[in-house]
Amino acid sequence: MTVHDLRTATTQTARATLAAVPGVPNWREDDILTRARRVAAVAAQHADAVDREARFPAEAIAAAKAEGLMGVLAPAALGGEGASHGEVVEVCYLLGQACASAAMIYAMHQVKAACVVRHGLGSHWHEAFIRRMVADQLLLASSTTEGRAGGNVRSSAAPVTYAGGRIGLERDASVISYGLEADALVTTARRAADAAPSDQVLLILDKADYTLTLTRTWETLGMRGTASTGFALKADADVAQIMPQPYEAIHAQSMVPAAHLFWGAAWAGVAASATERARRFIRKAARGAGGQLPPAAGYLTKAMASLRALRALLAGVLERYEAIQDDPEALAALDFQSAVNLLKVDVSELAVETVTAAMRATGLSGYRNDSEASLGRHLRDVLSAPIMINNDRILTNLAAASLVADLPQSIRN
Ligand SMILES: Cc1cc2nc3c(=O)[nH]c(=O)nc-3n(C[C@H](O)[C@H](O)[C@H](O)COP(=O)(O)OP(=O)(O)OC[C@H]3O[C@@H](n4cnc5c(N)ncnc54)[C@H](O)[C@@H]3O)c2cc1C
Repeated sequence: MTVHDLRTATTQTARATLAAVPGVPNWREDDILTRARRVAAVAAQHADAVDREARFPAEAIAAAKAEGLMGVLAPAALGGEGASHGEVVEVCYLLGQACASAAMIYAMHQVKAACVVRHGLGSHWHEAFIRRMVADQLLLASSTTEGRAGGNVRSSAAPVTYAGGRIGLERDASVISYGLEADALVTTARRAADAAPSDQVLLILDKADYTLTLTRTWETLGMRGTASTGFALKADADVAQIMPQPYEAIHAQSMVPAAHLFWGAAWAGVAASATERARRFIRKAARGAGGQLPPAAGYLTKAMASLRALRALLAGVLERYEAIQDDPEALAALDFQSAVNLLKVDVSELAVETVTAAMRATGLSGYRNDSEASLGRHLRDVLSAPIMINNDRILTNLAAASLVADLPQSIRN
């Protein structure tokens, strides 16, 4: 089978292929969203404890693995289901309504899976890894943040070192979500000691290839279950584990689109859940007042409106991405890159706006930590959105492009 065949295998092909394989677990019988709903129910049950105890959402991620949701993006020929980005977006949205940390962990895992699946095809080591990711339902963590450089993903300090077919890496990985719970790590690194910081590679490390020594804790306002602690990362691996394409291409074609779509869907889920709590609160208040809407009901309308705008933005960029995903030139074009980068800024701001409006609609009940309308967890979680790769950084990076971009001459195009 050629790389093209692998890439174009559809979900239907995947399911037909899998149905014919004896001994395939039962979860293959249900579609991805049905399975995701079951995972979301588990995640919702433990969300308060995960937040309170700032612990990894072990139950939700175990459920996602049991439902076979980790390897869905892999093509059928490598054991996956050939799921689209749209399907993963919907899973993130569902999980976000249940537990923000579980949703973000699933989203971050799928961002890495999207990079490996798209750019690993044709490479013997990476195809074998993709098969294992599906068969063993591996959870992939990400390391891009390094030292004090923070969210500048297109710059790496630590270089890969080479000796006799082996590679080494020692990195101040200042934030790695669920680093200890992950089964594998996907990390950026400087190509070599004499390479520029922007000359980067992406490499896949199996758990046996690296050690992590804790350097920073994760005592945060929200997203507490992501357990995004800092580590000194030390790795020794086979040179074949470096992704064949330069990180620059992977970044533009896969990493940024997948990150902004999947993270955005997780934040949208948090916003939707907050809006639903506000709606229930207003309904109950109106029933108790003989049908009279409480004075803050207008904020529910505001929450609904910003949630609608948020979903429309995500849907628009998703549609555009799916239309051009096999065209590297179109993906790299200024127009698409601006849209997909701004998506993160806009979606994160709208998610905060939606949860804030929902909080205003519920008043003191939403502000309390001990009421059924409580929105404290939602608000704390969603406030991570504008700072997860700071919106200021993205806007400043796009400023130069904005200077040269043509002013659109029509509304639709
Ligand atoms: C919930 C959550 C999970 C995360 N998980 C991971 C993970 O799994 N793996 C991972 O690698 N990272 C992770 N991160 C970190 C994330 O990728 C960014 O590194 C982090 O949000 C910091 O982004 P920032 O540097 O853009 O912003 P901030 O640190 O908030 O910086 C604030 C501002 O200062 C400016 N600034 C900061 N440093 C510099 C500098 N050196 N030079 C110039 N300007 C600077 C920026 O432009 C920005 O506007 C996570 C973050 C969050 C919130």
